[in-house]
Amino acid sequence: MQPLLKIDLTTGKTEEYRIPEKWEKDFLGGASLAARILYSSLTRELDPLSPEAPLLFMTGPMTGTSGPTTGRFVVCGKGPATGLWAESNIGGFWGPELRAAGYDGLWITGKAEGPVYLWLNGDRLEVRSAVHLWGKNTYTTQERVKEEIGEKSARVCVIGPAGEKQVLFASIMCDHGRMAGRTGMGAVMGAKNLKAIAVHGTNQIPVFDLAKYAPLRSESNRVLKQDNEAKVLRELGTAGAANYSEYMGAMPVKYYTHGSFENVDNISGAKMTETILTARSACQGCVIACGRVVKLGDKAKRKGPEYETIIGFGPNLLNDNLEAIVDLGELCDRYGMDTISTTNTIGLAFHLFEKGIITKEDTRGIVLNWGDVDTIEQLVNLIGRREGIGDLMAKGSRRFGAHFNAEEEAVQVNGLEVAYHDPRGVSGMALSYATSPRGACHNQSDYFFVDWGHTHEDLGITYFDRHAQAEKAANVARHQDWRTVFNSIVMCIFANTDPALQVKLINAACGLDWTVEDMLNAGERAWNLKRAINNRMGLTRVDDKLPKALLEPFPDGGSAGFMPDLANMLSAYYEARGWDLETGKPSREKLSQLGLEDVAINLWG
Ligand code: SF4
Repeated sequence: MQPLLKIDLTTGKTEEYRIPEKWEKDFLGGASLAARILYSSLTRELDPLSPEAPLLFMTGPMTGTSGPTTGRFVVCGKGPATGLWAESNIGGFWGPELRAAGYDGLWITGKAEGPVYLWLNGDRLEVRSAVHLWGKNTYTTQERVKEEIGEKSARVCVIGPAGEKQVLFASIMCDHGRMAGRTGMGAVMGAKNLKAIAVHGTNQIPVFDLAKYAPLRSESNRVLKQDNEAKVLRELGTAGAANYSEYMGAMPVKYYTHGSFENVDNISGAKMTETILTARSACQGCVIACGRVVKLGDKAKRKGPEYETIIGFGPNLLNDNLEAIVDLGELCDRYGMDTISTTNTIGLAFHLFEKGIITKEDTRGIVLNWGDVDTIEQLVNLIGRREGIGDLMAKGSRRFGAHFNAEEEAVQVNGLEVAYHDPRGVSGMALSYATSPRGACHNQSDYFFVDWGHTHEDLGITYFDRHAQAEKAANVARHQDWRTVFNSIVMCIFANTDPALQVKLINAACGLDWTVEDMLNAGERAWNLKRAINNRMGLTRVDDKLPKALLEPFPDGGSAGFMPDLANMLSAYYEARGWDLETGKPSREKLSQLGLEDVAINLWG
């Protein structure tokens, strides 16, 4: 592997960090390797917004090699809203550019005295003032930085005003709307006074065995292009899932209180394709191109929203105006805010207003009527600027609810807002949300796909009824392990080709001779390591829970009346994982079996 570049923003000191060979082999790269590297620095006492907090930008062993969906990187640290392990995966072109500059990651600590941006041109690093960029939105910042450094082919990842103001769900953006959206890594960057990082490189991106890798890469991309799911993603974007999800009663409506949305056709991926889509966009080397480019009345080209943004600003708030959703998504992008957490927290505000828990006095006169697009926009602006009620909302739904003695109304797990795949429609998501290392995450295990019937038989991930319960727990654990491999390589979860072919490709990229089972074992190792990090930061079994709303049946829709039995599912899950039933910690035996003896000593003495 190439080294990481460590940068202390307080002192300006830089040094190269070489990753121990054993860690490289055990964890491969990406979020898994980042967890190993940061293991000892992520303590319970660490304030995620302090200068001491680390922020690690990590690529994977295939980043930038034009393998299937491998243009990605991941940003890791401690989540400011969750106080837990945080990782946020992002596409675009920045990761490949970093590897071409000769580094597999950037490890940032400290805090600059005033706003700065970094300009890494090959092995030359400059720290430049960003005073004039402070307050600028994410798109303008990228343009300005590129102009200033005079290198058109550089790639720039940035924060917007939300990151500067430490909105706890602020994101990091690169290229045209590619986001490390979840877990508030933008706030961590803002707390360091770091506005942007520009990178440019001209080196050949290293692959362990290119002669073996190249033909496997071609075959993988050819197979992926023919994959049905990939074709749907290309044609309809991720929003192509909206109709089916609604049909199954797996799309939450009106802040998770209903399971049916009559006007789903107005906001579907098909509607977008038929009415406003003008082009598709892709991360580096991706043959799927799930990104949308749309045009509205003003004819300007914009990013088209993804499934989560559409459901969040749409059915979640009883809004069926697709063009308004495009605008609201873009507004979040400009501020640099995660659309899931933003829309979920706005949904909570509407919900509390309807219940009379918050009033016009709290909102400074704003009336929160469901579906009122102008009010939704007003709230996005207030959050992004941390003004009025938006200042409270910027702390995320858990804290916002707690402020009004209504924390139990917030639909979040451990401080991360629940995404829009409802476990009452697809029960596997109950475990995915309750046990994800970063809070309620739908990407650490997108088990809704399995519950829809998209199994991975070659991995032993088989089909259980979408409303089956404890019997699918081991299946969910295995799916999490497989997705953890994706997070090590930093691949997109949409690259679902034959696992044997994927393993061959990874072997060629990393110089390994592993089987599918070896690969799953590596995924399990990293999953347990992240769990151990969280246990050390105070997480126990009682934190593996779901919010109240998800444990009440929908009154309508395709899942009406069903409720996941989380307690039983969790017990079966713990057993499958080899975790201690009482404390929720991975057992000493499990940790030793995974080669994590030092972690076992830390956790168990
Ligand atoms: S499928 Fe979409 S998000 Fe994933 S790598 Fe390709 S373009 Fe990027």
